[in-house]
Amino acid sequence: MLLLKTCPRCHGDLQLRSDMAGKYLSCIQCGYTRDYLRKPVMTEEKSKVSDRGKGVEAGAV
Ligand SMILES: [Zn+2]
Repeated sequence: MLLLKTCPRCHGDLQLRSDMAGKYLSCIQCGYTRDYLRKPVMTEEKSKVSDRGKGVEAGAV
């Protein structure tokens, strides 16, 4: 898997790699590395918003 122009340091291409420690992203151009986050952040935020819309807390007690 290749993420084009997502390197925060040089805007190069990040490649998804994995070793014994787990998955991580590595920049092909400058060698920058960072942990690969598997959390679907967008889905998490979405469920929070819809929860609020119900107004369940307001009717408690
Ligand atoms: Zn880079």
